[in-house]
Amino acid sequence: MALKETEKTCPICGKDNNCQHDENCWCQTVEIPKYILELVPEDKKGKSCICKSCIEKYKK
Ligand SMILES: [Zn+2]
Ligand SMILES: [Zn+2]
Repeated sequence: MALKETEKTCPICGKDNNCQHDENCWCQTVEIPKYILELVPEDKKGKSCICKSCIEKYKK
């Protein structure tokens, strides 16, 4: 199964998000605060994961 370019890209910084898009993906175990999810543009919400570095960067 090939991932689309948009699914592999972090919607905030545009870099590779390392998402596996399955239950083994690191993003399934990480709780992303709502205020970080709100940084994602409307058309990209729920389609691609935010990368680890963005989560670290915005997490307070
Ligand atoms: Zn990012
Ligand atoms: Zn993911």
